[in-house]
Amino acid sequence: ALLMREVTKTYDGAHTVLDRVSLEVQRGTFLAVMGPSGSGKSTLLHCAAGLDDPTSGEVHVGGHRISGLGETKRTLLRRNRIGFVFQSYNLLPSLTVEENLTLPLRQSGAAADRTWLRHLVERVGLADLLDRRPAELSGGQQQRAAIARSLAARPDVVFADEPTGALDLDTAAGVLDLLRELVDEWEQTVVMVTHDPAAAARAHAACVVADGRIDSYLPNPDAAELARRLTALGRR
Ligand code: ATP
Ligand code: MG
Repeated sequence: ALLMREVTKTYDGAHTVLDRVSLEVQRGTFLAVMGPSGSGKSTLLHCAAGLDDPTSGEVHVGGHRISGLGETKRTLLRRNRIGFVFQSYNLLPSLTVEENLTLPLRQSGAAADRTWLRHLVERVGLADLLDRRPAELSGGQQQRAAIARSLAARPDVVFADEPTGALDLDTAAGVLDLLRELVDEWEQTVVMVTHDPAAAARAHAACVVADGRIDSYLPNPDAAELARRLTALGRR
């Protein structure tokens, strides 16, 4: 579903933030991305998701190249093929939950699949809250709405940057379970940045980023092992 080949991102022609990162994520995989602060996780996600363009290298999503296209084409492809979940939910406050969920469809001009939307809304537990505005929801409910929105257009990949960063432990666990179930039941593909080894251990695989490179890749990640690796990187 996602292929990154030798992706490099430099700022001001000098400061290298991503250094020839190659990564392949198969459809139906939940991948966690960990690493010290400033190691390049968000930059990696933004380049993979078409929010930003790499300086060199290639990114393919769902078999389509999304890098090196220019802003207009990249935005179009992103709207059709990619979902994004932010730590701060980023729901539009003036719209109802339902209007927020269907906004990506209206933006991309895709026909709404009513059966899918109904299914999705029930699955994330928002069926009775569709007429509310974001301010009338708890943090966990807002993040569930943001997850449903990211999936409304059935994207090839959903990217999430610290989706549980603003939630308490129990609520965070519920959101992680939800992501894992969406991946397992519907063969979605999710790439999630997190600082929490326990959160990463809910994924199918985890990679650790250090100094703009992928330091290690762990299938079936274990929280204790991830914590150990992060501590070792912190000491370096
Ligand atoms: P955190 O865990 O704190 O969110 P991160 O791993 O997500 O960190 P990034 O946000 O990807 O880190 O940033 C990686 C490096 O790139 C940092 O040194 C940061 O200062 C630099 N950087 C990010 N965006 C820009 C930009 N627009 N211009 C210049 N440097 C940038
Ligand atoms: Mg970040």
